[in-house]
Amino acid sequence: MDKKVVGLLGGGQLGRMFVEAANRLNIQVNILDAAKSPAKQISSHEGHFEGSFKDPEAIEKLSKTCDVVTVEIEHVDTQILEKISSQVAVEPSWKTIRMIQDKYAQKEHLQEYNVATAQSIPLAGATTEDLEKVGEQIGFPFMLKSRTEAYDGRGNFPVKSSADFDAALKALGSRPLYAEKWANFKAELAVMVVKTKDGVLAYPTVETVHEDSICKLVYAPARNVSKKVLEQAQELAKKAVACFWGKGVFGVEMFLLDDDSLLINEIAPRPHNSGHYTIEACPISQYDAHLRSILDIPIQQSELRIREPSIMLNILGASTPESAVQIAERSIAAGVGASIHLYGKGDSRANRKMGHMTLTAPTMREAEKAMQPLLDITDDVRG
Ligand code: ATP
Ligand code: MG
Ligand code: MG
Repeated sequence: MDKKVVGLLGGGQLGRMFVEAANRLNIQVNILDAAKSPAKQISSHEGHFEGSFKDPEAIEKLSKTCDVVTVEIEHVDTQILEKISSQVAVEPSWKTIRMIQDKYAQKEHLQEYNVATAQSIPLAGATTEDLEKVGEQIGFPFMLKSRTEAYDGRGNFPVKSSADFDAALKALGSRPLYAEKWANFKAELAVMVVKTKDGVLAYPTVETVHEDSICKLVYAPARNVSKKVLEQAQELAKKAVACFWGKGVFGVEMFLLDDDSLLINEIAPRPHNSGHYTIEACPISQYDAHLRSILDIPIQQSELRIREPSIMLNILGASTPESAVQIAERSIAAGVGASIHLYGKGDSRANRKMGHMTLTAPTMREAEKAMQPLLDITDDVRG
């Protein structure tokens, strides 16, 4: 097992936590990204490549040095992944990454497999007339979304009425677009699914809280949701991931509606923010699970259980360069026993994911109580 070499496209925080898991098993990860990227900072060997994870030539070079190529980000060149897949394993499959990186194509695919998603309409052009038609079809508000290159809500624009058309087109008009019917959700749920050579396994259902389309908090397991709905969400997430090709972990985001029905929001073909809690809360983390699945190392469903209720709070950058470190230092000083993760991204920038903190406790109520001072510190620093 430890003779295998993994090639990784992208060396951000997800790559960094993946490398932590690989390091514990003596597995070498060759990373393609800029020098000193977060993942490279904790991985000292001669096998890394410096450059863009979008550069086909660099990807081809990387692929010659490893047994399996994987990604920490879906915004990569799938033409070159398709090409190299005749020489080296690419996990998950380039077909999966290609389908998922276009959020509209992803939803069409899910609907073909009878997996419920928010109603989605492709936009022919980006004019106020196009938006007018969408408004007539699915009503207001609706969410205008970029089909590609979207993350942390940068690619979303809530359109409340025709008064928002100009601002929406100014923000997103240069990108390929589609529109989504507004989901009046009572909660957002997420499940990390592990696709192995033998089938799909799932972590428990968690609750995610977003602010301005950016994930802020994750409660694991989800609060105030019946056992039945928790199980239905796991089943839906497994069904959704089973529609795709290849191995690895997938983050499945869902909307829980008032009548307890579930819609898929989107799927990420990689470790995911909603699965960070698994590092402290579960026998094996989403990063361990990703590594094991792509290398055919055994995983048991029982290893994906939550040992103790947990809450994860993202450390998002604010206006000052030192804001994330301030949040971390003050949170450590609060002495509530949170595991603090900083990603090594340098100066804080507004709304950039700079780190996260996870607390576990015997009950969710105790975890919430312990988390309160960290929420207060975060609000205080971020203003
Ligand atoms: P990520 O960082 O998870 O990849 P993203 O930029 O791809 O995010 P989405 O997941 O599409 O963006 O949306 C981000 C958030 O915006 C959702 O978690 C939800 O809170 C809100 N949102 C998205 N689509 C809708 C919708 N159709 N109706 C209501 N709210 C929505
Ligand atoms: Mg997304
Ligand atoms: Mg999302």
